[in-house]
Amino acid sequence: VTILAIESSCDETSAAVCADGKILSNFIASQAVHEQYGGVVPELASRAHMQNIVPVVDKALKEAGKQLSDLDAIAFTQAPGLIGSLLVGAQFAKSLSLALNKPLIAVHHMQAHVLANLIDDPKPSFPFLCLTVSGGHTQIVQCDSPHQLRIIGETIDDAAGEAFDKSAKLLGLPYPGGPLIDKYAKTGKPDRFKFPEPQIPGLDFSFSGLKTAILYFLQENTKTNPNFVEENLADICASIQHRIISILMNKLKKATIETGIKDVCIAGGVSANSGLRTALKETGDKMKWNTFIPAFQYCTDNAGMIAITAYYKFLAGEYTPLTASPSAKAEW
Ligand code: ATP
Ligand code: FE
Ligand code: MG
Repeated sequence: VTILAIESSCDETSAAVCADGKILSNFIASQAVHEQYGGVVPELASRAHMQNIVPVVDKALKEAGKQLSDLDAIAFTQAPGLIGSLLVGAQFAKSLSLALNKPLIAVHHMQAHVLANLIDDPKPSFPFLCLTVSGGHTQIVQCDSPHQLRIIGETIDDAAGEAFDKSAKLLGLPYPGGPLIDKYAKTGKPDRFKFPEPQIPGLDFSFSGLKTAILYFLQENTKTNPNFVEENLADICASIQHRIISILMNKLKKATIETGIKDVCIAGGVSANSGLRTALKETGDKMKWNTFIPAFQYCTDNAGMIAITAYYKFLAGEYTPLTASPSAKAEW
């Protein structure tokens, strides 16, 4: 079974080819145009997808050594995401499906982030838990099979990626600041500054209080020392990162205790964070979990994760009619 998958939910245009559950290619074109605006500009993203989609699909097919005539199905990200961006990928996939007379498979972007853990060996066994931490979402998902995914906890305000990016912005770092906080945190003391951990019931998360606490903390300290941030950047970054990670790991621990599940994964762009990766490993060793993290190229937005999800849908005969349309928000 050979599947071409397209991902265009935000600011990455990506195409991947998968054959019998193996990813043969995963090509990602990132859009540099947004950097100067400090965030993704939806209209510019749609236009860049329009320019990128044909060459990106060509590259993915070439790298996989496949031709259009080899394809058994065409998959695309249906939701959630920026509607203009999603429309480009959806229309392209539908047109190709119609032209080749091959089935169309719509994929939920957040389910795909979770199932990215099924791409490479070793793979988690079912049921497993996945902490999905990305730019727009923070969720703990219980995955009983490739077709049965359930959110058992999620953020009630900001996502973990937003917490990183908004904190970075307060420190005067460019967008997206998450990777920069990670970089500076490496040489800082995580226990130098104490930021509050919110008390949220159940398995849900909250990050907006942290952002406010950081804002007041910086205002207070720059009053007496205008160079406070520059002089303490590493320690501030390490302390912020430490708190975000403790919020995430404490809920993840709670989820494994409540469910009794020992196979534990992370997914999404923030799973690139070196502190979170170490924390998962260390907590996992202590709690006797089997831990899994997708390869870096499958953590941030990519079509490989769409392809693997579509592969399981194909096996179950879950095809999508040509009348399907993308949507910015999506139920599970
Ligand atoms: P969603 O999937 O929720 O729609 P998204 O796909 O845009 O959102 P991703 O691309 O998965 O999100 O992740 C982007 C986020 O990951 C950004 O907030 C970015 O700052 C964060 N991020 C990436 N690398 C790191 C890192 N090393 N440390 C912390 N955060 C990071
Ligand atoms: Fe994503
Ligand atoms: Mg992104």
